[in-house]
Amino acid sequence: MTYSLNSRKVAETTAEWLRQRGVDKREIGELVLFLQKDYFPGLTLEECLESVDRVLSKREVQNAILTGIQLDVLAEEGKLLPALQEMIFNDEGLYGCDEILSLSIVNVYGSIGYTNFGYIDKMKPGILKRLNEKNGKDVHTFLDDIVGAIAAAASSRIAHRMQAERETDELVDGG
Ligand SMILES: [Mg+2]
Repeated sequence: MTYSLNSRKVAETTAEWLRQRGVDKREIGELVLFLQKDYFPGLTLEECLESVDRVLSKREVQNAILTGIQLDVLAEEGKLLPALQEMIFNDEGLYGCDEILSLSIVNVYGSIGYTNFGYIDKMKPGILKRLNEKNGKDVHTFLDDIVGAIAAAASSRIAHRMQAERETDELVDGG
């Protein structure tokens, strides 16, 4: 059998896995609003959600989400090889591959995503706080970074679009 990639299936699986892992898209939209509200006071949650959807529609983003969630789930089930199992299960601070994987999401709208990603990881508002609570059972070692990265990328997209709009307005106004 020849391998053939089904893009719609990957997109649907990504949405389904996020839901199953307790991530509500609205909560990611709220993170975006948290990151951008001071810069763009008129920004609405709907605009943030639209931006989140655009980020989620990208293939490299879906790939990172599926990979990260898979590792979290395997760690919950105790199915990883011992050294990795311990580190991912305990969200070991020196592990770092969770952040690195998430950078492939942060990257999709350019480097301004990095600042947002670092900031939101430090502040841990809303859903990020919940994902970071350890109960000795659920593993969100990858998911917390993934969610922060989606919010950071969606924020970058908004910042780029606002700038583009501003420049168009200046052209129309003649300076
Ligand atoms: Mg993490």
